[in-house]
Amino acid sequence: MGSNSSSVNNIPNAQELMQETGFSAAHILRLYERFECLDKDKRGQLRPQDFGAVRELAMNPIGDRIISAFFSPGQETVDFASFVRILAHFRPTETNQTRDGAKQEPANSRTRKLKFAFQLYDQDRDGKISRVELLQVLRAMLGMQVTEEQLQSIAERAIQEADLDKDDAISFDEFRKSLEKADIDHRMSIRFLR
Ligand code: CA
Ligand code: CA
Repeated sequence: MGSNSSSVNNIPNAQELMQETGFSAAHILRLYERFECLDKDKRGQLRPQDFGAVRELAMNPIGDRIISAFFSPGQETVDFASFVRILAHFRPTETNQTRDGAKQEPANSRTRKLKFAFQLYDQDRDGKISRVELLQVLRAMLGMQVTEEQLQSIAERAIQEADLDKDDAISFDEFRKSLEKADIDHRMSIRFLR
């Protein structure tokens, strides 16, 4: 490509991003190269369709939802800093995460990972996963493998198990409790970072 991006110093705000996300210089560099490849018109901004070139996402049954999680509501493009901040959710959780002066939990904490995952279900962003929203995700993920009847019963069981206050929807707290023992790191690994 001949571009001279082989030093992290050439990347705008690289130091701040490293501090904020915990990514190493090598990670940031790698992500920058990735970003530049996706940024076909070289305007420093990605649109949702630019993510189509990411094979891991194109092959993921809920890839569309993951892509839309990169964009805040009403936003049509994402710049490099936002791109890195979203990807930080996919960094493995560290056991010792307390960093001096950190204003909020790092993006790779268990809670923030769970929030990210929750948001993939909660499409209307009302803070609850409704039966319909759950069915949409299950349908996308299981698709042809199961009948509509089986889908309904899987959704029913998931709601019954998670819905502690019986409002027929899954709140974030309920979602978190139901996944208490789940290996979130493993589930939320995307090969984006290698
Ligand atoms: Ca909802
Ligand atoms: Ca509930």
